[in-house]
Amino acid sequence: MRFAYLLVLALPLMAQTGVVPPMPPQSKWVTPAMTAAQSLAESTAKANPTDRLTAETSNYADTGSYEEALSFCKRLAARFPAQARVIEFGRTAENRPLVILALSKDGAFTPEAAKRTGKNIVLLQNGIHPGEVGGKDASLMLARDILVSKRFAKWLDQSIILILPVFNADGHENRSLYHRINQNGPRETGFRATAQRLNLNRDYMKADAPEMKAWLKMYNRWLPDFLVDNHVTDGQDAQYDVTIDVPVEGPVSPEASEWAKHYYVPFLNQEMKALGHIIGPYVPQMIFSPRYSQGYAALRNRQALLVETHSLKPYRVQVWSHYDIMRITLDAMGEFGKDLKQAVVNAEKNDGDGQQKAWPVDWKLGGEAYTHQFLGLKSDAIKSELSGGTYAVYQAEPLEIPIKWYPHWEPVSVDAPLRYVIPQAWNSVAETLRLHGVKVDVAAKDSTVEANGYRLMNPKWSAAPFEGRHMVEFSVEALSNKLRIAAGDFVVDMKQPNARVAHHLLEPAGVDSLVKWGTMNAIFERKEYFSAYVFEPIAAAMLQQNPEIKARFEAKLKAEPAFAQSPAQRLNWLYEQSPYAEKTRGLYPILRQ
Ligand SMILES: [Zn+2]
Repeated sequence: MRFAYLLVLALPLMAQTGVVPPMPPQSKWVTPAMTAAQSLAESTAKANPTDRLTAETSNYADTGSYEEALSFCKRLAARFPAQARVIEFGRTAENRPLVILALSKDGAFTPEAAKRTGKNIVLLQNGIHPGEVGGKDASLMLARDILVSKRFAKWLDQSIILILPVFNADGHENRSLYHRINQNGPRETGFRATAQRLNLNRDYMKADAPEMKAWLKMYNRWLPDFLVDNHVTDGQDAQYDVTIDVPVEGPVSPEASEWAKHYYVPFLNQEMKALGHIIGPYVPQMIFSPRYSQGYAALRNRQALLVETHSLKPYRVQVWSHYDIMRITLDAMGEFGKDLKQAVVNAEKNDGDGQQKAWPVDWKLGGEAYTHQFLGLKSDAIKSELSGGTYAVYQAEPLEIPIKWYPHWEPVSVDAPLRYVIPQAWNSVAETLRLHGVKVDVAAKDSTVEANGYRLMNPKWSAAPFEGRHMVEFSVEALSNKLRIAAGDFVVDMKQPNARVAHHLLEPAGVDSLVKWGTMNAIFERKEYFSAYVFEPIAAAMLQQNPEIKARFEAKLKAEPAFAQSPAQRLNWLYEQSPYAEKTRGLYPILRQ
C-alpha cells in the first residue's frame, strides 16, 4: 500500500521535471586526514568481507536498509551470546521493532544486572533524523571492532554499551534520492520525521510519538550515564567536520556540568584534534531545552553529547567523524566514567532531598558577549538572476569569522513545592509523568489542605501548529486557596530523584511544560454563554443591588469609548461580574502544596 503510494507520487514528478539526482554538493574544505579517514579504513581492513556494511562495500556511496542494521546486530549477538544481545524495546507507528544492541563483558543484559556491575552505561543513539545516518554505520562498525577484532574490547572493562542503530526506523525506510538536498551522501536517505510526521528530537518532554514513549521506558530502565546522539548538520560550508554540544549550562545539574567542563570536553577536543578532526561548538549558539536529546539527558541529571557532522563533507568523512568521536567518548568513559557516575548520584541525592529549591525552567543567552572565532571559509557573494538577491559561493580558503558568543544561559527559576496535586480527571498528565519515570501516588482518602496554584490569562496560540501541537503563551497570576484532595487524585511527592522533570513539566512557565505544549488547551476555553434577552433584566437588577459594580461600570464607560460603544462588550463585562460567570476558566488544574 505504502509502496504503491510512493510510485504514484514519485514517477510523475521525475517525468515532468526531468530532475535527476545531481552531483552532490561538496565542501571546499576536505583535509588529507579527512580523505584518509584512517580509523575507518583500519576497521574495514580488519573485518571479514561478510561482516562489512553496505556503506563500506559501496565505498560510502550508500547506506544499508534498516533490515541490514537489524540483521547485523542479530548476527553479532548470535556469534557472541556472552557479550552481546539484541533487545526489542518497543514498536514504531508502522510496527517496526525498535531495538538496542547491548554489549556487556559480564553478560549483564538487564538493567538490574547492569547496575550490579557498577560499570557506567553509555547509549549510542542514531537515526533520530534518519537522513543523518553516519552514526548508524559508525556505531555498527564499533560493535564489530569490540566483538570480532577485539580492537576495543577494553571498553567493556569499564562500560556497558547500548547501541540504538536507528531510533526513527519508519523514517529510515521512507527513503528517497531527493531527501537532504544539502547533503553529500549517502545517495539515498530516509526522511526526517516519523510516519506520523513528528520530529522525535522535539518530542522528549511531550512524548506524543509511540517511538518516544518506548524510548522513555527504555531510558528509565537503563538510565544511561551518558547519551551520544548522532546527527548531520547542514548550513554554511566550513572547515569543521564535526560540531558538538555538551550541556554545561541550562537544564544540566551543577555536578554533571562540572564533570563535562573539567574532564570530558577538554579531553574530547584534545583527542579529536590529535586525530586530525576539526571540531568546534555547534553554531549558531542556541538554547537546548529538554525537548532536545541532550537537554533531556541533562534534566535527568545525566550527560550527553550532541554530534553534528557536516553534510557537505563526503559520507565517508561523516562516518569517520562519528566513529572517532564515539571512540574518544568511550575512551573518556574509561578515564572519567567513575566521576560521572558519582556526579549523577550526587545530583540525584541533591534533587531528591525534599528541601524546597528554585529550579530553572526557561533560559535566555546572557552575560557579557565575547567573540568566538568560527573556522569558516572565504566566500564570494554572487548576484542571482533567479532571485534577484545574492548567494554565497565558498572558496577553498580558510577564514576565521568572528561571531558573537554568550558565556551564560540566564535562567528563569520557579520555586518547587513539596508536592503537586493533579485532579484525577487529568490522568493524562499523570500518565505522561509516569512515562518520564516520575513516581506518582494516588490519594487514598479525601482531605483538605492549604495549597497554591495559578490562573493563566490572555492565552495566545501559535498561528501554525508545531510538532502537531498549537503551543500557547499566557500571563500567570499566582493564587492560594484551600485545596480539597479527593480520594483518587494524583500526588507527586517531590522527595524523589526525578523531581526536576516533574517540576519542568508541571510548572506553567516551563519552556517545555505540558500546558505550554498545548496539551491542556481546554482550560482556556469558555464553555457557557448567555442570551441577551435573558441576561438584560438580571444585569439591571445586579447594578441596582450592587452600587460598587455600578460605579465601576460607569467609570469604565467614561474611560473607554470603544467599550461604551459596544453592546456586546458591555453585556459581557456585566456577565463577568455576575455569579453566572465561569470561575474555572484559565484556572490551572494542578496545585502546589
Ligand atoms: Zn539532526
